[in-house]
Amino acid sequence: MSLLSIRSPLSRRNWLRAATAGTLSCLSPTLFAAPSKPSKARIAITLDLEMSAQYPKREQTEWNYEKGNLDDATKRYSVEAAKLVKELGGVIHFFCVGRVLEHPSVDWLKQIAAEGHAVGNHTYDHVNVKATKPEETQFRFQRASWLIEGLTAREVIDRNIRVTTKALKARAGIEVNGFRTPGGFNNGLTDKPDVQKMLLDQGFTWVSSKYPAHLYGKVGETPTADIFESIVKAQADAQPFAYPSGLIEVPMSPISDVGAFRATRWSLDAFLKAIRLAVEWAIENRAVFDLLVHPSCLVVEDPDFRIVRLICELVRAAGDRAEIVTLDKIAATIIK
Ligand SMILES: [Zn+2]
Repeated sequence: MSLLSIRSPLSRRNWLRAATAGTLSCLSPTLFAAPSKPSKARIAITLDLEMSAQYPKREQTEWNYEKGNLDDATKRYSVEAAKLVKELGGVIHFFCVGRVLEHPSVDWLKQIAAEGHAVGNHTYDHVNVKATKPEETQFRFQRASWLIEGLTAREVIDRNIRVTTKALKARAGIEVNGFRTPGGFNNGLTDKPDVQKMLLDQGFTWVSSKYPAHLYGKVGETPTADIFESIVKAQADAQPFAYPSGLIEVPMSPISDVGAFRATRWSLDAFLKAIRLAVEWAIENRAVFDLLVHPSCLVVEDPDFRIVRLICELVRAAGDRAEIVTLDKIAATIIK
């Protein structure tokens, strides 16, 4: 194709043909840079720093009003997990609820960041970013509605995210690394372009909000083969992508600790089996796996850190077929 013909209007078919032949690649290298299949599976270990209802005791549900009031056991577990994963050659991506930065000491969080782990924003009070009424954003604001002071739901959410970024920096000297929505959504933020824009306006380039649908099985029963199969199948639906707005989504990979242990009363062995199968799928397919767990839950359910040990071991055994990374590294590989 001559240069002249490039200047002339091209039909979509000719444009694609020219692009495929490489003749147009000089015009816009990024437009035609076909993403090559990653050579390694990218495995993330993420811990959400918040209190979880029903932990450490079943009757403890007051945490729903004070998600950021982390107890000492949860902080200790977070620090120890960070230390262990680092020793095993990995890294953890934490997502912090901002209210914890009001505590007398945040040295434990500073220590985690100083060791090279990433810390992202999980809102100040664990608000629902899809809420449309201000009182629906969080239980705390239902009980203490005066804290809303006439703000709209959108304004409450915007402020809740913004002040967390500020608190991390002001109190712990931490530069925020990404945003995870409280709660996961089967469709991510697909239905919420306004929330995507809010995050982009606040300087975030990626979000972790999607948690694909899958089967859980019956409460209290040992999960059957079809449950594990459903969880492995859901991994393909938990792969990163870009929204039309340009915001990148790095989904959470099933099954979460609270979904398994709290909601369905799984045993640790069942959880380990599900995680093993999911990570093995990711390694086989050079895909992404993003573990979603909460130290406030695992301090009770997995006191010996068997889950993070398992993941580090699977990645080590995979050699050059897999690596443990933070979510920003995964987002950086997605072409908008
Ligand atoms: Zn959360």
